[in-house]
Amino acid sequence: MTSIEQLLRPDLRGRTAYGAPQLEVPVRLNTNENSYAVPDDVVAAIVAAVAEVAPTLNRYPDREFTRLREDLASYLTRTGGVALDPAQLWAGNGSNEVLLHLLQAFGGPERTALGFTPAYSMHPIITRTTGTRWVDGLRGVPGAGEFDLDAESAVSQVKEHQPHLVFLCSPNNPTGTALGLDVVEAVHEAAPGAVVVVDEAYAEFARPGTPSALTLLQGRPRLVVTRTMSKAFALAGGRLGYLAADPELVDALRLVRMPYHLSAPTQAVACAALEHAGALLDTVETIKGQRDRIVTELAAMGLRPVPSDANFVLFGGLDDEHATWQALLDEGILIRDVGLPHHLRVTAGTPEETDAFLAAMRALAPTHR
Ligand code: PMP
Repeated sequence: MTSIEQLLRPDLRGRTAYGAPQLEVPVRLNTNENSYAVPDDVVAAIVAAVAEVAPTLNRYPDREFTRLREDLASYLTRTGGVALDPAQLWAGNGSNEVLLHLLQAFGGPERTALGFTPAYSMHPIITRTTGTRWVDGLRGVPGAGEFDLDAESAVSQVKEHQPHLVFLCSPNNPTGTALGLDVVEAVHEAAPGAVVVVDEAYAEFARPGTPSALTLLQGRPRLVVTRTMSKAFALAGGRLGYLAADPELVDALRLVRMPYHLSAPTQAVACAALEHAGALLDTVETIKGQRDRIVTELAAMGLRPVPSDANFVLFGGLDDEHATWQALLDEGILIRDVGLPHHLRVTAGTPEETDAFLAAMRALAPTHR
């Protein structure tokens, strides 16, 4: 009998799947979701939008998700500092699917993708599922932050590895800080044979003065900016991610997507949420306040939080991060062990969740540092 292990593609054998714990505990701060429930008026709008498409579910949905692309283009035009056309927009079931489409179209066997580690853990996983080779680039700027990335270092790594795709993550998960646009520009210029992807899943949480890479799209047909409704929009369960790029690059993604990949309910939910963008994004300032409070208070405890442009904080200075993670979980507080020695990552949630997390950290302080 042939085992499943033997049947499996050799390059997938022994790999571990994405597995952030999903536990029913009172304080869930481990996957950078928005802790605020969808407000009642937005719930009503979503229910009405789904009710409207329900009788038509006998038919396939609009394969081109025309209205959704218009609404996404209009949202980015309002908030991203640059006018975008619906032909520049593409969407998927979460930005993970959008990233998969990019890899299916521009990666593959004999091709290489480069990212700068630590960054979003799904970048290498999605890359490898498409048979693309992954190269772990390095972060760290001498004299600056150990997790920073500057143009000089990024360019030299791009030149060394000659990738077909480059992943930049800004604000970067798990470290939290945004990249300077100089890094994006320099990487794009140094990699004439690459599609350069800037993953801006957390863009709405950036500190003031952090421009989006959307402002660089004009004249750069190999540049892609990915976004998601899972974080600031509080719509992780709706599964809607998207990207903006040159219309010709967007068109290439039609070669790899499955027909009708965005269901009619998904399109309806996302459009209803975009119509209520103001109400949904109302939580962003509160969350940013909690994030900054976490940075200040962890530093006051003698820990080493990394300044953040996202809705989470990475912090170092722990003796034993596994013990701290478990001790918090024992108190009903789930945060994330991202595999970085002496570090953990916590999502900024409601003020009450922050209170619970900080109180537990204070109680642990004598034993866990
Ligand atoms: N990019 C980054 C940097 C993320 O942290 C995440 C979610 N954790 C995603 C993309 C994917 O989000 P989604 O598929 O929900 O859009």
